[in-house]
Amino acid sequence: MRAERNGHSAARSAALAADPRNGSTPAAAPARVVDLDAAERAAADLLAALGAESDSAHLRETPRRVAQAYAELLTPVPFNATTFPNQEGYDELVLVRDIPFQSLCAHHLLPFYGTAHVAYLPGERIIGLSKLGRVVDLFARDLQLQERLTTQVADWLERRLHPRGVGVIVQAEHLCMSLRGVQKPGALTVTSALRGIVKDDSRTRQEFLSLVAQGR
Ligand code: ZN
Repeated sequence: MRAERNGHSAARSAALAADPRNGSTPAAAPARVVDLDAAERAAADLLAALGAESDSAHLRETPRRVAQAYAELLTPVPFNATTFPNQEGYDELVLVRDIPFQSLCAHHLLPFYGTAHVAYLPGERIIGLSKLGRVVDLFARDLQLQERLTTQVADWLERRLHPRGVGVIVQAEHLCMSLRGVQKPGALTVTSALRGIVKDDSRTRQEFLSLVAQGR
């Protein structure tokens, strides 16, 4: 049993290479597969290595559940990145704030989760607002580093939309930091990626930061 796996390098290159003038193009193409059988065997080995009693009724189906849970967490949902001509010449920031997401830390395979704030300053095209949420998931469903996730969302918007500027802020709690190691529950890691006018023009950058800060 093999599950089709989207996202990652091939899908990302496809997403990045797509012509933004097409209006509606797939944001991800099938790229990598999760081998559910192999993952299930590995989960059973891990349980055994951890000293778990595999004949316990509660653990019997656990390797299969673990494999399916990881497959789900690592499989982005494909979507069409619909863009429209900026006919009204809208030239202020478009921001979607407090986009919830969850991801898996590449170092510990433990979840990190929080919110992303994604903004762009339109050029010749605008994009459906829901896509700003979907693009976060496209890259969050991966073995990730928060820094890389933040950069990937900004890069995707830049290349797909050719906007005049992009601002992405991600804030997340990492369970590898809350539950183990330094054990600091509630500590938030904040990362940002600013591009174009949002980076270079101090007034626009301040406007982005204050819009993100509003409501909190
Ligand atoms: Zn970690």
